Amino acid sequence: MKHIVIIGGGIAGIETACALTDAGHWVTVIEKNEKLGGKLNNWSYLFPDFTPTEKITGTLQEKYREKDFSILNKTEVSGILRQNGKFSIKTSGEQHLEADALVVATGYEIFDARRKEEYGYKIYDHVITSADLEQLLLPGGDLTVAAGKNPKRIAFVHCVGSRDEKTGNHYCSKVCCITGVKQAIELKKRLPEAEIYCFYMDLRMYGKHFEELYREAQEKYDIQFIRGRLSEASEKIDKSLLIKSEDTLSGRPLKMNVDLLVLLVGMEAGKGTAATAATCGIGCEESGFLKTTDSFLKSNFSEQEGIFLAGSCTAPMTINDTILHARSAAVEVDNWLKKK
Ligand code: SF4
Repeated sequence: MKHIVIIGGGIAGIETACALTDAGHWVTVIEKNEKLGGKLNNWSYLFPDFTPTEKITGTLQEKYREKDFSILNKTEVSGILRQNGKFSIKTSGEQHLEADALVVATGYEIFDARRKEEYGYKIYDHVITSADLEQLLLPGGDLTVAAGKNPKRIAFVHCVGSRDEKTGNHYCSKVCCITGVKQAIELKKRLPEAEIYCFYMDLRMYGKHFEELYREAQEKYDIQFIRGRLSEASEKIDKSLLIKSEDTLSGRPLKMNVDLLVLLVGMEAGKGTAATAATCGIGCEESGFLKTTDSFLKSNFSEQEGIFLAGSCTAPMTINDTILHARSAAVEVDNWLKKK
């Protein structure tokens, strides 16, 4: 029996572990947090059909409890050595593991919106991120904390920390346009009196049912989409916000008072990815995400033989894409081990 170590216990790590266990391998998942499931644990509903996230996390938990793989939680990898065709892995808990193959599934970081200080995140009370809003939409979450009791107007800003010269993140994070549409609809359902505006550069509704949801947002929920990038937000004495933008379709500058500003933050590789890359001796793209051998036929292969990649440590991905990428990683590992 071959032993495979998976670094990261988010959905990519779990899915890869389940598939490799099914293929008859011995698998150990190393997860830095206490709980498996990664950032999905903090999400309320999933686009495009508003599936409660707990339905997916619950199914994943049931699935991995049935499988016989080891989990080292609250643990990080501190060193990796390659000896005689095997990997010798040292953990923060001073354990030593020997593995025949490694899978890196360390996921992504959410962009830190404080880097866009012109939007006032963590400066003004009524500026939150899409990740914060997910928490407020969870059962028990109190929307009035951020939006006040009867918000009249709410604005979403797209592309915060993505497609942005200032932050150096030139790529599109793929999921934030549809996240904005989903959250705007969810807010409108809960606050039917509120006007909701989305400020975008251009909308990227590339996935199954995404475009339909965008149409529904406009036609059924009367959510307004304005083409323009927000230049700044400032707080007024009553804690509402004055936002400035330009409507680039009409070519006119625009000022608006809002009671809540939601920043649609993108995905980043984060410091953890660079540290893992250094420990594993594998490369990163200019974007900071892990480098794959190619984008078509070898998207699960790193530059090091025997080290495979799964999920959003390689690029921004939806949950569906992450699960599929994880399954393909398991197939590649299994094939590689058989040939070895
Ligand atoms: S998905 Fe939309 S909001 Fe996100 S970076 Fe791409 S264009 Fe911007």
